[in-house]
Amino acid sequence: MKTIGLLGGITWESTLEYYRRLNLLAQERFGGLHSARCLLYSFDFQELADLQRAGRWEELGELLAAQARLLEQGGAGLLLICANTMHKLAGRVSRNLRIPLVNVVEETSRAALELGLDTVGLLGTRITMEDGFYARGLEARGLRTLLPTASRRDALERIIFQELALGRLEPDSRRACLDIAEDLAARGAQAVILGCTELPLLLKGWPAPVPWLDTLEIHARAAMELAVKP
Ligand code: GLU
Repeated sequence: MKTIGLLGGITWESTLEYYRRLNLLAQERFGGLHSARCLLYSFDFQELADLQRAGRWEELGELLAAQARLLEQGGAGLLLICANTMHKLAGRVSRNLRIPLVNVVEETSRAALELGLDTVGLLGTRITMEDGFYARGLEARGLRTLLPTASRRDALERIIFQELALGRLEPDSRRACLDIAEDLAARGAQAVILGCTELPLLLKGWPAPVPWLDTLEIHARAAMELAVKP
């Protein structure tokens, strides 16, 4: 099994869940006392969030790329950016790496296509929903992408940054997300992408009118597949 390099702390609440799921996947696959080989660099998220808000993507790209190279030098055989939003920088991060970056947008598209879907709803941070990089990635692979309305995008941004990033799982916010999923389903979404790695913490296991596509789970599974490939 190759060592899985993780750029984490984006946020640490979801990085914990990546770590847990990767270890469970290794255990499922190999049994016994097996667990995942991991190498983690965990950012101070306040610094990243400030740069995101200021639109300083060049600097963010430098930061992520530098840590990715250290993970590679430290022995990682593949790399995960443990967040959806930061995949805006996936090209920048992978540019100078020899090891593969497992791209969450590509893997989520693949999962949707394998389910035979053509229209998906997308939940995530404001940047993920509004910047266009994520929807373009989905649409390039033939998936029509529906977004929540503007006021609902505001609500999601607040839930992610003021609650989930701080480990707060509020029943009212869960209800609000389920309402958003209902609206997207009524508009034609055949599944709803949990396109923010904190959203599964709130919503996993809560039935929606259409299936969730849990990007954290999809991403972790894709990483494990690659890690065990000879
Ligand atoms: N973990 C998040 C994501 O998957 C949000 C944090 C961020 O803004 O990078 O998009």
